[in-house]
Amino acid sequence: MQGCFRDRVLDFIYPARCPVCDDVLPAGMHGICAGCHTYIQYIREPRCMRCGKPLEEDEEFCGDCRDNSRSFEAGRALFVYDGIMQESMARFKYSSRREYGAVYAEELYRHYGSWVKQTGAGMLVPVPVHPARYRRRGYNQAEILARHFGKLSGLPVGTEMIARIKDTRPQKELSAGERKRNLAGAFSVGRQVRELNQIPECVIIMDDIYTTGSTMEACSAVLKETGIRRIYFLCVCIGQGN
Ligand SMILES: [Zn+2]
Ligand SMILES: [Zn+2]
Repeated sequence: MQGCFRDRVLDFIYPARCPVCDDVLPAGMHGICAGCHTYIQYIREPRCMRCGKPLEEDEEFCGDCRDNSRSFEAGRALFVYDGIMQESMARFKYSSRREYGAVYAEELYRHYGSWVKQTGAGMLVPVPVHPARYRRRGYNQAEILARHFGKLSGLPVGTEMIARIKDTRPQKELSAGERKRNLAGAFSVGRQVRELNQIPECVIIMDDIYTTGSTMEACSAVLKETGIRRIYFLCVCIGQGN
């Protein structure tokens, strides 16, 4: 009974919200609201065989994956990064709506839990933010996603596998070419790698958004240096392919 009362009080102080539209949900409800469910589009086939971006036509790869070398095997995402998801991701990242992470991790697990199992991954690796940024913001949204996904999947979360050594400008302000230059030297092998008894053969990188893939490529290349053989990724949102 005490637990129920505590839940009701917490519901009152921090009501559950739909992560897509941010509306307060009826008491006891949780997840994406019925209204949003009628129009949000989960990504389906055809998609890029490498990064998983949805494609207009049944082609093998998107333009970005055709033009760039990829250190990761493949990736999956839930939604196209369109207007409403841009707002949702901005609140998740900058407006302290960290509770969205639980819902998005559940959705990721529901859609891609078995895909993750098939990869044989032994660890989840969130894309790190620079320590200065972490202190300012108080959390890393990719880590929150990974922690919730870790609870659901039973996979450990390696938060120190990659170190972010350069406080880069936000990628969204930059063109594709600038994004790559911005990230040059931004990541290095993290201290956790030395402390592991065994390097996992395969890992899943987790992040909120995938656009051109330059962040994912930079992180994958660093992880490859550690001897990890296969790298996959999961994101909440991904750009439309071309
Ligand atoms: Zn909603
Ligand atoms: Zn692609």
